[in-house]
Amino acid sequence: MAFHWALLCYGLITLIVAVSFLCGQWPIFQGTPISFIHRFLTFGAYQYFLKFVGALLGDKGITSILSVEYYCCDRPNPILQIIYLAIIGSTYCIIVKTTFQYIPGYYLSGVHRYTSLLAVAIGILLFLLTSFSDPGTVTVDNISQYLSVYPYDNIIYTKKECSTCKLPKPARSKHCSICNRCVARFDHHCGWMNNCIGERNTRYFIAFLLWHFLLCMYATIAIGLVIAGRLKESKIVYILTVYYGVENSFRGLAPHIVQWLLGSYNTQILLMVFMAIVSLLLAGFFAYHAKLCLTNTTTNETFKWQDYVSWQKKLVEARASSAALKASIDGVNSERKPPENKCKPFFKRSSLENTEAVEKNNVYDKGFFHNLYEVIFPVRIKASHLHTKSKSS
Ligand SMILES: [Zn+2]
Ligand SMILES: [Zn+2]
Repeated sequence: MAFHWALLCYGLITLIVAVSFLCGQWPIFQGTPISFIHRFLTFGAYQYFLKFVGALLGDKGITSILSVEYYCCDRPNPILQIIYLAIIGSTYCIIVKTTFQYIPGYYLSGVHRYTSLLAVAIGILLFLLTSFSDPGTVTVDNISQYLSVYPYDNIIYTKKECSTCKLPKPARSKHCSICNRCVARFDHHCGWMNNCIGERNTRYFIAFLLWHFLLCMYATIAIGLVIAGRLKESKIVYILTVYYGVENSFRGLAPHIVQWLLGSYNTQILLMVFMAIVSLLLAGFFAYHAKLCLTNTTTNETFKWQDYVSWQKKLVEARASSAALKASIDGVNSERKPPENKCKPFFKRSSLENTEAVEKNNVYDKGFFHNLYEVIFPVRIKASHLHTKSKSS
């Protein structure tokens, strides 16, 4: 029975830590223990650790920790890539060692021994493609293409020069301080990939997220079917009802079956819980990036739009309060004016609507299918293709 509680605690702790770490900064969690755990995991714990090192080793200790932090967070490094490979490799090895002996089983055919390996291999291939492909580095050779393909919207992008690369900054590009290069259609710098996600590798990144979500779902369902097959093959229901006199109903059998499963297949159940949680998180990430892709927005641009909209709202508020002040002064100084047309407010757009209109004014959004097409077939490839075609003709 103690194992039931240990398993429940393991599942809950994994879920809380993962959700807090990855989503704790979301406004929905503001003021909740989730945001507190997020702050602790991302900032507080590290600060306590620094204080501890300072007390133990003095300034020298702190300096060496800060240089490690600089290497891990501000310089390109393969630490998270190694962790990803270690997680996927070790999880697959544990599954092979503990579960492959039951394949083929009652519900699962022998082919899954090979399809699972193929699925993992495709996952690693997508990881390598995202990690080692060019995200769309802006260079002297391709800058004219990027400048023509991405016009400035003069809202969140205006004509500028990158102070580091000394090149004009095409719209939608950003200088990545970790990789020290300007990247076209910059989404974000991904620590797991040790690479920027940009114009040319967003397609691999989204495929990576989708594939790993499906991979985790596949593992969860396959292990579930292995356990269900073992239940059937071991004739547990028959033994319980005939030999132990347990009532042949769901309520009667369930506690005994759960106890048997937890006793005999605890590793598989732990793996299932872990895979299910990871697949849920990946589904969330995939949905977020799919939405960005279909609206032709990048993660970098969502922040830019947020800043722009909040600035616009402040501007509208400032204008409204200065107009109200002016009206009150006019009211004091002048005689009573004729009453305003009551229909007018219905036709007049509210300040909130105006800011919403600003938010939706994405000139790069050219419709669902075009946006998808642009991610799958990056602009530069098409542009360079056209370039070579026009040269040859
Ligand atoms: Zn740059
Ligand atoms: Zn980068």
